[in-house]
Amino acid sequence: TQALVWFRQDLRIKDNPALANANQIGNVLPVYIFDDTVPEEGSMGGASRWFLHHALESLNKALDNKLLIFKGDPKEIIPSLCKSAQCQHVFWNRMYEPWAISRDSIIKTTLKSMDINATSSNGSLLWEPMSVLKKDGTPYKVYTPFYKNGCLKQAPPRYPVNTHHTKFAESSVEFPDLARLTISDLQLLPKIKWDEKFYEMWDVSENGAQDKLAHFITSSIDNYDEQRNIPSVEGTSLLSPYLHFGLISPNQTWYAVVDAFEGIDSAKERKGVGVYLSELGWREFSYYLLFHFNHIQRENFNSKFNIFPWKNDTQSKQDLTAWQTGNTGIPIVDAGMRELYKTGYMHNRVRMIVGSFLVKNLLIDWRRGERWFWDCLVDADTASNAAGWQWVAGSGADAAPFFRIFNPILQGEKFDKQGEYVKTYCPELSNLPNKYIHKPWDAPPIILAEAGITLGEDYPHPIADLSATRKRALDAYSSIKKAV
Ligand code: FAD
Repeated sequence: TQALVWFRQDLRIKDNPALANANQIGNVLPVYIFDDTVPEEGSMGGASRWFLHHALESLNKALDNKLLIFKGDPKEIIPSLCKSAQCQHVFWNRMYEPWAISRDSIIKTTLKSMDINATSSNGSLLWEPMSVLKKDGTPYKVYTPFYKNGCLKQAPPRYPVNTHHTKFAESSVEFPDLARLTISDLQLLPKIKWDEKFYEMWDVSENGAQDKLAHFITSSIDNYDEQRNIPSVEGTSLLSPYLHFGLISPNQTWYAVVDAFEGIDSAKERKGVGVYLSELGWREFSYYLLFHFNHIQRENFNSKFNIFPWKNDTQSKQDLTAWQTGNTGIPIVDAGMRELYKTGYMHNRVRMIVGSFLVKNLLIDWRRGERWFWDCLVDADTASNAAGWQWVAGSGADAAPFFRIFNPILQGEKFDKQGEYVKTYCPELSNLPNKYIHKPWDAPPIILAEAGITLGEDYPHPIADLSATRKRALDAYSSIKKAV
């Protein structure tokens, strides 16, 4: 007997519950389908497609080239594959995007009508959203009680499962009704070569994910609670794209950390570990919110923001372009936006700074920022991206209040004291003394001349007056408070 395993956002062999379950049945037929029926909001952006290409290559290699690849509508392809390969059992790990939930339930119904067993498992969350509810049966809306009372008081997360002895079926099965593709046929790589730096940053493989985790545990986790806010140091695990595409599971991550620090009493180390695990908790919370309030990707969680006076005039279109291309004239913002474009990643602290600048100083709808991140991030994730943007905008569940407006100069001076991060991504500012690195417009002409900078030529003048736009944002916020 053969069992079909449908790989989706779980592109790994280790700790893969679908694979472990299929293993009990017989030989496994591994399948990946590039679903071209995904609605626009879920359709992968450029950076994600790059990551997916390499993740599939790595999985296929680990499977001795046995991965069967198709493109089209899984609602038709899965039943057709089962028929051709005479599979009575199909396994997959659950996804939580609303469109994926409805697609998968249609497929389950179709398979049932064909007398085929379809089994789904939890392969990407520590605690599934449907199992965490308040005492009154309603979902949590605030992170701390969700994590502390809802998650940590439940049974601990599942320990990673063993998939060592899986036997994969030979890939010679014929599928008369379906075109079997290669990974290159999916045309996931960009036509314009903007991805050179991606290769330096990401070893896209299961081993690459394990190496990042091991490196983080040995060198950074002790100081994580302090260093995670400093964008110029590698103080975080950089696991987000691997977690998104499932090259590593949160369970592997959780237990690697917990087991490594078992019995260690040092308060400092324990703090780093606790804060790191609670960040994995934020990932859970994002999925939780998407599951229970699935409008959050496109609509404000807090409907009060539906009448917010976002700007959408010619000027704001120019501002959006300046923001996207890292040319706002505010160094920490520009460094962040350039990091994003070059590497497919942006440090979390800087995501908050650039987000606040877009939404509050430029008064541009958070959805514009969400879409740009969606296209440029290798870790673009429906749940975490929407939750992150709504947190920044103040419209989300348990979000930063709108009136707390980041001052990008102070943020830069606090978290990038020596300006190292800015200098990495805005090298034209490298010769500016630290005192002015976060506000070049304040530097006397002689200093600018010595640093070889002509503002407006080598580096832009700021596109926004920070204090005037701060006041404008607060006035806009007052207008919606009054209206409701
Ligand atoms: P670490 O600090 O090492 O954290 C470990 C893991 O915990 C991360 O890999 C991630 O899975 C999870 N995590 C950490 N912080 C958060 C958080 N605030 N929310 C949810 N999960 C978190 N994260 C994404 O994975 N995809 C996104 O599309 C995304 N968009 C964001 C947009 C905005 C505006 C903001 C403010 C945050 C966004 N985040 C997103 C969350 C966070 O910035 C990244 O998860 C983090 O920077 C990834 O780096 P890391 O793996 O080194 O994190």
